[in-house]
Amino acid sequence: MSDNAKLEASKATLDLGLNGEPVHYKGACHCRKIQYEFDHSEIKQIRECNCSICTQKGGRFVYTPGNRFHLTVGSLDDDMTAYQFNKKIIKHYFCSTCGCAPFGFAAGGKVIGINVRSMEDFDMKKVEIEYFDGANM
Ligand SMILES: [Zn+2]
Repeated sequence: MSDNAKLEASKATLDLGLNGEPVHYKGACHCRKIQYEFDHSEIKQIRECNCSICTQKGGRFVYTPGNRFHLTVGSLDDDMTAYQFNKKIIKHYFCSTCGCAPFGFAAGGKVIGINVRSMEDFDMKKVEIEYFDGANM
């Protein structure tokens, strides 16, 4: 498959981790004022996006439905800032204390994109990286 064909195919499929036994994952921002957990089938692939903000922040993502994602420490309103730009479809949350960006909310919170760099015990070297052409959406 060519790179272009891969990018086209990736737009159509967003793996929300609903197929297969759920695994419990955890993560936090750097200062740990924000801590979260979510369920997702075993993560075998993560997404790197070339849009303007992902390029700047260097995040790599997995996705889960909003009802499978919970904050265990901290609150969106009190401890985080939501940055929005362009079409304002996504709330790019970052910790108001340490500035790290562990996740974003899309579609009003129906889909959460988790930056795997903020996850605990997650080895990016063991998964496939899907290069997503977010810059041209
Ligand atoms: Zn923090």
